Amino acid sequence: MKKIALVTGGSRGIGAATAIILAKQGFDLCINYKSNSAAATEVLEVVKSYGSKCIAAQADVSNEDEVVELFAKIDTQLGPITALVNNAGILKKQSRLVDLNAQRINHILSTNITSAFICCREAVKRMSTNLGGKGGSIVNVSSAASRLGAPGEYIDYAASKGAMDSLTTGLSLEVAAEGIRVNSVRPGFIKTDMHADGGEPGRIERMAPMIPMKRGGDTTEIAEAIVWLISDKASYVTGTFIDAAGGR
Ligand code: NAP
Repeated sequence: MKKIALVTGGSRGIGAATAIILAKQGFDLCINYKSNSAAATEVLEVVKSYGSKCIAAQADVSNEDEVVELFAKIDTQLGPITALVNNAGILKKQSRLVDLNAQRINHILSTNITSAFICCREAVKRMSTNLGGKGGSIVNVSSAASRLGAPGEYIDYAASKGAMDSLTTGLSLEVAAEGIRVNSVRPGFIKTDMHADGGEPGRIERMAPMIPMKRGGDTTEIAEAIVWLISDKASYVTGTFIDAAGGR
C-alpha cells in the first residue's frame, strides 16, 4: 500500500523533523503550514531529496473549510492519506489565569484541539475500512502540560492538550475495529522556536535543572517516537501515550 502522510505544522520544529524521518521511511508527504512558506519550502526540498513525492500546503487548521480543502488537495495530488500527524500547535505569552480572556482561550482551543478533531474526521473518512478505506494511523502531538497543567504559564494551552488526550483515547476505541490506530506523544521541553512565542526564548535553559534528565529534548527525539507509532512496528498499539519528557 502506498504510504501517504499529512503532518500539520510541518514547516519547523517537531513537525519538520517528523516529516523528514517519514520521508526516509518511504512516505509521500503533505507538509502543512500556516504562514511561513519559506520554511515549508526548505523542508519540502529535504523531503524530496529522499525520493518522496511531497507537497507543501498552506492552510490554517483552525479553520474547518481550509482543512476540508487541504484533504481534498492531498487526495488529488498524492492520494488518500494513510497517516496523520496532528502536530500544529501554538501557545501564547506566559500568563496567570486571572489575566486570560475568552478571545485568547478560544484561539488556543481552535488551533490546538478543534483542528485535531476536524483533521481526524477527514482522516477517518478516508481510512476507515467501514467506509471503503484501507486503514491507517493517527498520532496526536500532545504535551506533558496535559498532565502538569502549566500553572503560571499557560493553563489554556495545557487544557487544549488535556482535551487532545481525551480525543486520543475516545477515537482510538471508536475506530479500533476499522483498521485505524490512534496514539499520542506527549513531549516535554523540546528545543524549538515555540518557547520564544511564549515570551521566553531561554525557557528550556531555565527549566533544565528541574528536568530529571537535566536537559531539554531535541526535535528528532520526539519525531522518532511519532514515526514509530505511525509505523507497522506498532501494529498492535492503539490508545497509547508515549511520554517523551526527560522523566517529567
Ligand atoms: P513550532 O516550532 O512553534 O512550530 C509550529 C508549527 O505549527 C509551524 O509549522 C507553524 O506554521 C504551524 N502552525 C501554527 N499554527 C497553525 C495553524 N493554525 N495552522 C497550521 N499550522 C499551524 O512548534 P513545536 O515546538 O515544533 O511544537 C509542535 C507540537 O508539539 C505542538 O503541538 C506543541 O504544542 C507540541 N509540543 C511542543 C513542545 C516543545 O517544547 N516545543 C512541548 C510539548 C508539546 P507557521 O510557522 O507557518 O505558522
